[in-house]
Amino acid sequence: MDVRARQPAASPRIAHHLRATSLNRALDVLGDWWTQRILRECFLGVRNFDAFQTALGVPRQTLSTRLKALVAHDIFSTDRGGYRLTERGRDLHPWALMVWEWTRKWGGQADGRHPRSLAHAVCGASMRPLYACAHCGEAVGLRDIEVHDAPGVRLLPATGRAAQRRWAAGRFVLDVREGARHSAFVTADRWSHLILSAVFLGCRSFDVLARETGAASNVLAHRLGVLVSAGFLEKRRAADDGRRFDYALTERGRDVYPLTITLVQWADRWLPVRGGAPMRRTHRACGADFRAQVICSCCRGELLPRDVLFQRPAP
Ligand SMILES: [Zn+2]
Ligand SMILES: [Zn+2]
Repeated sequence: MDVRARQPAASPRIAHHLRATSLNRALDVLGDWWTQRILRECFLGVRNFDAFQTALGVPRQTLSTRLKALVAHDIFSTDRGGYRLTERGRDLHPWALMVWEWTRKWGGQADGRHPRSLAHAVCGASMRPLYACAHCGEAVGLRDIEVHDAPGVRLLPATGRAAQRRWAAGRFVLDVREGARHSAFVTADRWSHLILSAVFLGCRSFDVLARETGAASNVLAHRLGVLVSAGFLEKRRAADDGRRFDYALTERGRDVYPLTITLVQWADRWLPVRGGAPMRRTHRACGADFRAQVICSCCRGELLPRDVLFQRPAP
């Protein structure tokens, strides 16, 4: 059966949501491989140029450009010496916690740049960060959240040609096996992140993904190939038509969802659009508007930056 015939109502909404999502605005600022890794180091306590350089092995000129941009976006401040997070930057803490958790699970020891252990100062326990609904406190996953239009949705233009050119120009670095150990492999590459978001919203086939994301077929084919080889998506024969293939999330891919939503929530707050957030999410189980909160696996309290203790990775 033709997928278009099966999803007449759903597909225009998906394209609409993909264009309107605050993820696009977050990625304008943070959609960069080095930027995301620099931020991650900052949450590990790295403050100065040489320490960033040693930790990441990043070319000095690249590091300098990225640090300047982070200061210009008011995510880092240099007022007190070194690079420190501003309030806007500190508000990325839930994202950083979920990056650590993703890396613990999928990066393995080989990544080396995540805390060796985490503890919660409030309950004193060693713990894992859990992604939860701030209203009812239940841990949530992709399937627990429902997406709706919100007032801000009408004010946003479709992804323009200029943005598409900029996205395509972004260098897609790295060996796939190496990259698969870093969440930034997907979350910092705009097309990969947008394609994965479309799969989060229920798109499955090449044609539907092409239509909803607006990606050119060569770009889409390349990214899908990479996402499959890196283990974020799985290519399967479609259940209703054995001649066609569908793309389904693997557990590794599904675990990127909290990283996406923490970035979206950050952009809703710090890069707002006139008229309010473009999308509304509700938690199916409790019915409340969904706001993500990262909580302690032991006492279930919210994890605030000052209360999270960690053992730094070995230098
Ligand atoms: Zn809830
Ligand atoms: Zn706790």
